[in-house]
Order: sequence, then C-alpha cells, then structure tokens
Amino acid sequence: MNTEKSKYIWPITPKYKVAEHDKWGIRKNHYVLFKERAHSGFDITADIGTEVHPIMSGTVLLAEFDGTTTEGFDAFNDGYGNKVEILNDDGRRVVYGHLRKILVKPGDRVTTENIIGKTGSSGGSRVPHLHLEIRKENTEKTGLDYTINPLDVLPKIDLDSLTAEFTLEPYASLWRKLTSKEPWNFSKEDIPYSEDKNYIQ
Ligand SMILES: [Zn+2]
Repeated sequence: MNTEKSKYIWPITPKYKVAEHDKWGIRKNHYVLFKERAHSGFDITADIGTEVHPIMSGTVLLAEFDGTTTEGFDAFNDGYGNKVEILNDDGRRVVYGHLRKILVKPGDRVTTENIIGKTGSSGGSRVPHLHLEIRKENTEKTGLDYTINPLDVLPKIDLDSLTAEFTLEPYASLWRKLTSKEPWNFSKEDIPYSEDKNYIQ
C-alpha cells in the first residue's frame, strides 16, 4: 500500500459514486463518439456550481472556452469547454475542464486556497463534472502518453465507499447508466439535451 503523503489536494471533494467511465484510461463507449477512445483525465461528478481549487500552487496559463473538435463534431459538443490550465510549481500542467464559471485569468498566481472556477457541463460533457487532467510536464499535448492517472498521485481516498446518487435531471438518467455494471451500452438516445454545454464563459 502506498502510504506516501501526496503533494496535491483534491480539487473538489468527491461526493458521487465513481463510474469506470470516469477513470483515466481507455473508455469503451465515448459519449460523443460512441466508440472506444482514450480518456486522459479523471472525471469527478459534481453539482453544478461546486467550487474548484487547484491541486497545487502554480501559475494560470490559460482560462478560456476550448471547443477543440474531434472527428467532425461541433465545438459545443466536444472539447474541454470552459477550462483553466495551470502550470504547477512542480512543473506539471494541470487542466480543469467543463467549468460553468472561470474565476482566474492567465498570469494569476494561485494556491490551493484559491477558487479557480465552478463546475458545470460545458464542452464535451453529458453529466456535470470536473475533468481533471494532470500532464507529466508543461506540455500542450494530451493523451495517455502525456498524462498520469490522477488517482496515482492524489491523496488516497476510498472511492468505493462513495454512495451518493446524482439526482439532477436531465443528467441523472445517463449518470445511472454510466455507474451501472454495464455502462457501455448507452447510445445517443440516452444523452439528455443540456444548454449547459453551450455555456461559454
Ligand atoms: Zn474527462
């Protein structure tokens, strides 16, 4: 068991049950493309408006709407949405995605005491959550080769003990599918319409 103390904090306190779909690694059924695709971060399902803290002190590099498209999908349905990118004092770049509100600007110095934004479901998100992506170094490149599994470096918590259910409709029905034992069978018809993904801050 790894008992080494983490140098990071959790950006928000996980509250809801964690789906396999939320984890870093290969997703079997991506909810924009509906096929297997790498997931470079860890998704923390959260109530809209939950305050987000940086996992370590650092400097804000980017704070903007990012609608980078994937394989022909439009900007509002994919990408990080409203995102903040911070260069940690340890040299790693960290991305906080799908925010509703951004509360910092490039050049700002931040510590773990600061609130950098509030959670939402902007960009390529179908259930309100924070996408936390930790890059190995200060790089713009994403993907599994350039990122680390956040669960390997964040303070250890027992995610299996989280029992809260996400109940806010229209997202909750999809959330229940994602956290079920067979989360891979959902289709486009299971995706609720949400204005929040078009929420450009
Ligand atoms: Zn994600």
